[in-house]
This record gives sequence, C-alpha cells and structure tokens, in this order.
Amino acid sequence: MKEKRFFRIVSQEDLMIYLDNAATTPPMKEALLSLQETLFDYYANPSSLHSAGFRTAALREEVRQRAADLIGTSPGEVIFNSGATEGNNTVLRGITPLLKRGKAIALTSIGHASVEKTAQALEREGAVLVRLPLKKGGTIDLDRLDEAVGPSCALLSVNAVNNETGLIQPLDALIRRVRAIHPDILIHVDAVQSFWSPLWEAWPALDWDFLTLSAHKIHALKGTGLLIIRKGRHLHPLLSGGEQEHSFRPGTENMPGIIALGLVLKQLRKNRSSFLGAIRLLEEAFIKNLADLGDYALNREKGASYSPHILSLSHESIPGAVLQNALSEKGICVSTGSACSDRDKKSHRVLTASGYEEKQAGNTIRVSLSPFNTPDEVTALVNALDEISQTVGALYRRVR
Ligand code: PMP
Repeated sequence: MKEKRFFRIVSQEDLMIYLDNAATTPPMKEALLSLQETLFDYYANPSSLHSAGFRTAALREEVRQRAADLIGTSPGEVIFNSGATEGNNTVLRGITPLLKRGKAIALTSIGHASVEKTAQALEREGAVLVRLPLKKGGTIDLDRLDEAVGPSCALLSVNAVNNETGLIQPLDALIRRVRAIHPDILIHVDAVQSFWSPLWEAWPALDWDFLTLSAHKIHALKGTGLLIIRKGRHLHPLLSGGEQEHSFRPGTENMPGIIALGLVLKQLRKNRSSFLGAIRLLEEAFIKNLADLGDYALNREKGASYSPHILSLSHESIPGAVLQNALSEKGICVSTGSACSDRDKKSHRVLTASGYEEKQAGNTIRVSLSPFNTPDEVTALVNALDEISQTVGALYRRVR
C-alpha cells in the first residue's frame, strides 16, 4: 500500500539559490542530523521531578551553559524564549513601571519591527519616546547624543547590526558616551544579526544590560530565542504562569529548539573563523563584480562599518519588488527589506530613516549570505542582476 503523507515535500534544492539569510537561515545539517535521535530520548518535561525530567533538564542546562560561554555571560543570566520578537517585547514592556513614572525610551527609527512597533504601542499607552540622531547610512551620531539621552531616559534600545543594511553601530563608543551622560540608564541590544560582525567577540566586554538573540538566524530552528538579563537588572515578565526559566519566562520549554541550538552552537564555536572567512570572500567577490555592472549602487557609506553577510543595493531605475520577483523567477531568493515587513511594499522606513532618498529606497534589494553559499551562487546572482538590468531596466529607462 502506498504511504499516505500529510505534507507533499517538494525539494527545490537543485533549482534554488538562497541568498536571504538575514530573513532566516537553513538549519545546519551536520549539526542537526543527530537531533531526531535526541528528541526521542529527551521527551520528558524538564520541570518534572523524576529521572526522565531530570535528564531533560540537565540537557537544557548544558545548552544554557554553552550559550552563556559563547556570549561570555553566566548561565543564570540566560533565558530561553520563542525568539527575538518575544525578547524585544519583553525588554521594552518589562520596564513599564518606570515608563509609568514618566521615564522615556531612547531608540533609533531604524530598529526591527519588534522594537519599533512595541515602542509605538507603548507611546500610545502614554510612554515617552526619544529618537537618537542618525548620520547618513544609519550610524548613531555620537556627537549629538546628549540632544536625546538624558536622566529622563529609563532605557536605550539599539539594533547592533541593522537587518536591512548590515550597518554595525559603534557600540563600544556609544555605550561609553551614554553611561557618561546617564550612568543608570538600562541598555538593550538587539544582537540578532551580529553573529558575523566583530561585535560578536565584544559582548563579554561591553556594558549592556539586556541582549536579545534568535536561533533561526544562526542555522538552528525557528521558535527559539535567547534573552540575556545581566545580573542585578530587573525586568517584569511578559507572561504569567509556571516557574520555568529562572521563574521569569513561564511555559514548558521548547526542548527540540533548545537541543537544536545546542548542537548548532557547538559547530559554530568550532568553525566560526573559517565560516566568517568564507562569507568575507563571497562579500568581496559580490562587491567587486557588482561594481563592474555599473547600474547598481551598494548602500554603504564611507567611514561606517558593515557586517559582511548583509548587502543592500539599489538599481538606478528598477523597483526593488520587481528585482526581487525577476530574481525569484530565476530561482534566486533575496528580499526587498526585512522579511517581517516585506509584504508592506510601500514601507521603506529603515532606508529612508537612514537618509536614503525615497526612490533609492524603493529600488533596493537585500542580499544576505551564509557560509553555505558558494562563489558560483554569487556569480549566478551577478549574472542575473546584469541580465535583469539590461532587459527589465531598458523598459524602465524608456518610461523615465
Ligand atoms: N531583530 C532583528 C534585528 C531581526 O533581524 C529579527 C528577525 N527578522 C528579529 C529581531 C526578530 O526575530 P525572530 O524572528 O526570532 O522573532
């Protein structure tokens, strides 16, 4: 008898070139092949007070220790949750008592939707928001910081590596300046896209209070995240319920996601420098070949730093959504901006707030790399961009 399946699994691997790793990454096969085996052994509820529960709890703690080691923090400061959207909501909403006392949140206008929309919701509830001044490209203008940050601010929230442009904020200098102006301010860093940037090595030394991370951006699974709360800092939990996660985040832990994260972190720790080298080579080849095409501009500013895995580029006349579609027709997956806001085609919030003209922002796509992409895939992308510019671009040039 033919096996009945609930899902028809279509393999597109041979047809597809996946260059949208800032939206999500493919799970790391080498790390996750043993996942299935582990899941069938560690099914008990880690809160259960019997040997099966203790075993699962011990494995969860092993992963917590591994995550803490990687970030240079202690396991008591690591909370597992459902991802960075939850983490960012928890941090912003977790200081509500301070906001009720009239304190403000200082933030940029180029943060991820999970920070921006939460802040806007808090503002509707009466909180005060102050916007940090930016230079062209989105770097926070440190010389004008005291226009925004003062003793009335309870929290500063900053995206370490911008998910649309790859821009790296000068966090060391920023945190020093902010602490000089206001030593007691709480500092939240959205570190989701920071893994391939030099900031990753800086987390132990930098003086932040809350850090949010997401497993599916580093080749583990969706629905798993990390919120790091530095010792002595206090947040009100988002949810009420059980005593899980240091009595801070109730709900039975997502053990499949946590186990997968542990397996992936082990591989990433071992291979980070060679993986990073591979991404840098792809970045270099792409930038060089793109410059030869002439019709595309890279949205990078002199004097600013960028993570090598995110490249934002604009065509002189083709809208980003058209470029994205034309590439998709050729089996090449990129995005126009953040996947979380990609369906809102009119929104170029991050690019325009970073100082780019509306037209340039509208003609933008984001290419994002992983160590598992190949030089041939980058060559195929550049060839496709060239062809699209000559064919589709000719139509747009004619109607200009
Ligand atoms: N912050 C940034 C900078 C991101 O890129 C993302 C994912 N697009 C998030 C937060 C949200 O992460 P998650 O998908 O885990 O909710």
